[in-house]
Amino acid sequence: MAALLVYSGKSPLALELLTAARFLAKDTAWEVKAVCINNEEQAVEMADRGAATFNIKNENINLADTAAVASALEQAAKKLDASIVLLASDRRGKELAGRLAQKLQAGCLTDVNSLAVVGGKVQCQRNALSGAVVATQQIESAWQVIALAPRAFETSTAEGGGSVQELEIEAAASPLKLVASRSKAGDTVDITAAEVLVIVGQGTEPEDLEPVRAVAKALGGEIACTKPVATDRKWFPEDRIIGLSGKICKPQLAIILGVSGQVQFTVGIRDASTIVAVNKDENAYILQLADYAMVADLQEVLPELAKSLA
Ligand SMILES: Cc1cc2nc3c(=O)[nH]c(=O)nc-3n(C[C@H](O)[C@H](O)[C@H](O)COP(=O)(O)OP(=O)(O)OC[C@H]3O[C@@H](n4cnc5c(N)ncnc54)[C@H](O)[C@@H]3O)c2cc1C
Repeated sequence: MAALLVYSGKSPLALELLTAARFLAKDTAWEVKAVCINNEEQAVEMADRGAATFNIKNENINLADTAAVASALEQAAKKLDASIVLLASDRRGKELAGRLAQKLQAGCLTDVNSLAVVGGKVQCQRNALSGAVVATQQIESAWQVIALAPRAFETSTAEGGGSVQELEIEAAASPLKLVASRSKAGDTVDITAAEVLVIVGQGTEPEDLEPVRAVAKALGGEIACTKPVATDRKWFPEDRIIGLSGKICKPQLAIILGVSGQVQFTVGIRDASTIVAVNKDENAYILQLADYAMVADLQEVLPELAKSLA
């Protein structure tokens, strides 16, 4: 029986892929299988959520060597009869998707936001034309590699019924040696995980940042920004950019301040549950996107907002 195979080295993303695979499997005969590489803890976690998990233990596979991981996944997909491989569309996952697709001679789609099964085939939705339209695409080749955008699916909560088995894979010693690894210096906030985002655009002034920080702190949220605020003004690291060149976020609440609402930005926040926007230009597109829109000058609104939440 054909199977869907899920893999991400990052457990939270692997659990989202598990949800996606189950969603595809529910109306088909596809089995759902998960692969972990040199990560027993992750294998146990996947099995605890009900996945038939295959743990590859091979010291020759260096996880920093994406070519080696692709080679292991190619063998796993073939051994497990999994013609559809679901990966995470984070930076490493996208590189892996390309390498694996090349090895399997598979069609490949990355940055996929949603999935459906139509006529027994997987249909993928992705943003196209800088996010101005959503394209529905289908891979026609026998092998398929699909990389899903982080948070496109919820974390799998299903429990029980899973198992862990070892899977033997051949791997030559990697030509790459991991010498050391260290956390990124400075800002390490993951804005995609935040439930509340206070988002700063070019309509804000340096003196607005203090009340912005106060609002974010009072709501237990994180600060994010538009691209020019990070790349031109350099107020925040590029990790905090929302949009096409940044992160796609789905917080419960997005408070968007002094942002015009160009499509390259909105594509990264339009799926937030509730959007509040403040802009002094009543014609700014962001106000149309917002659930709560305020035409006002931030210089007046922000100090009041920070005071009322203190
Ligand atoms: C290939 C490509 C990729 C891109 N990727 C991204 C991306 O990932 N993310 C991204 O953000 N951008 C991206 N951009 C840039 C994008 O097109 C916009 O230029 C950018 O989003 C605009 O940022 P902004 O809204 O902060 O600034 P502006 O467009 O300048 O808007 C500022 C807004 O603030 C309002 N304002 C000014 N003063 C006040 C005040 N005192 N009170 C209230 N409101 C005020 C103004 O009315 C205006 O609407 C990309 C562009 C390209 C070409």
